[in-house]
Amino acid sequence: MPVLMFCSKCGGPKKLSEYVLSQYVTKAPHIYCDLCDSTNLVTEELRQYAFQVRENDNW
Ligand SMILES: [Zn+2]
Repeated sequence: MPVLMFCSKCGGPKKLSEYVLSQYVTKAPHIYCDLCDSTNLVTEELRQYAFQVRENDNW
């Protein structure tokens, strides 16, 4: 399922679709906020979840 992430700088929500999780979050060290363009570190927990999504869905 999609994940809702909150920006560490402005607190704005960003929805990460399963596609974004499997294609981007598994590789990228940061996620950019849509509102303030600051970088948010991809946590280990989020990355693990992204790998699970990718395995389950066989993109
Ligand atoms: Zn932000």
